[in-house]
Amino acid sequence: MSQSQSQSQSRRAEPERQIIQIARLSYTALYELIRRRLLLRIDRLPQGQDPLTGVRSRTSYQLSAPDAFQLLDDTTARIGPVEITAAYSHLPSPAYQALTQASDAFRQYVGLPELLAAARTPGQTPAQVRRLIEAAVQQGRQSGQPGLYVPSQQFQSEWIPDEILVHQTETEFFLSLAFRTRFQRLSRARVTNRVGLDLGLDPLSVAAHENGALHTFRPTALAIPALNSLTPEARQLLNQLLYASGRQDAEQVLAYLTHHARHVYAEHLTHRGMSLRFVQRARVQAVHDFHFSWLSQSLNVAGIGFTRVDPAGTSTTCPQPDCRHRHADNRRGRAFLCRACGYQGDADAVGASNVLTRGIG
Ligand SMILES: [Zn+2]
Repeated sequence: MSQSQSQSQSRRAEPERQIIQIARLSYTALYELIRRRLLLRIDRLPQGQDPLTGVRSRTSYQLSAPDAFQLLDDTTARIGPVEITAAYSHLPSPAYQALTQASDAFRQYVGLPELLAAARTPGQTPAQVRRLIEAAVQQGRQSGQPGLYVPSQQFQSEWIPDEILVHQTETEFFLSLAFRTRFQRLSRARVTNRVGLDLGLDPLSVAAHENGALHTFRPTALAIPALNSLTPEARQLLNQLLYASGRQDAEQVLAYLTHHARHVYAEHLTHRGMSLRFVQRARVQAVHDFHFSWLSQSLNVAGIGFTRVDPAGTSTTCPQPDCRHRHADNRRGRAFLCRACGYQGDADAVGASNVLTRGIG
């Protein structure tokens, strides 16, 4: 076995950690758990249990009894005597699937996969979607219902309850859940492409192949009912549908990559300041969660190389090999026009091919 093989295998054997922000209203409950020593402070994280990047933990805790954790619904879990509110349905779908299946007490609205599919069907009106949401809320949550997501045929996760951690930063609490994910390739074709990705919101992604082929992914439009027509429960369900829809769009990018790429290059991303309206927020958050963490984690699980490249100038540099003229004026919105050689194209496609060129080096 070569060194790189053993490294990649041991890396894949490590569970991946999913970090969820705990809602502020649950902080009193957390302090209660700490006081009762149901959450035990740990001085040093066990090796390999480093929290994900982005969460600088000041103090970390583990559960004194891992079986004390039970997921009740998409936003509520019980730890011992208290309830902890967080967006559990924002877990990557294989992880969410594993967690809900391991939680006997889990309850979900009836018919959510069908409701999501209906809301994503072109031609639906906001009034029709509102009626479907209200009907689901009226029936209430019931046990034995499938979650919101279409199970992945390729990725399957197993939840590791022994490794629940709570991280406390200066101002916030985060829950860290561990999963082991397996990948099963569906197609037997030998994949040799290297692919550059331009990541965004619309398009979600443009994939540029070495042979010049391009594939553009656009988000699915939803018919969104007016918020003031909805009860708080219905509004929360709408929020989950929006998140789930954004995720489903993002996962199509992943499915495409697992079929077509042996190595993926993408830009280094930065969290840009965003002030978004409610209806945009959940979908955008799903896409962000995907771009920032789940994309690289799942490519790693699938054994597909992933490299982030410096994004500087990727959308303003001419992609023509004999030109490469870089100027901010080359890009006007979505249109690219090279001021030096006159090359014209779609700015996102130009971005994707420049990411590929930069990645291949
Ligand atoms: Zn040019």
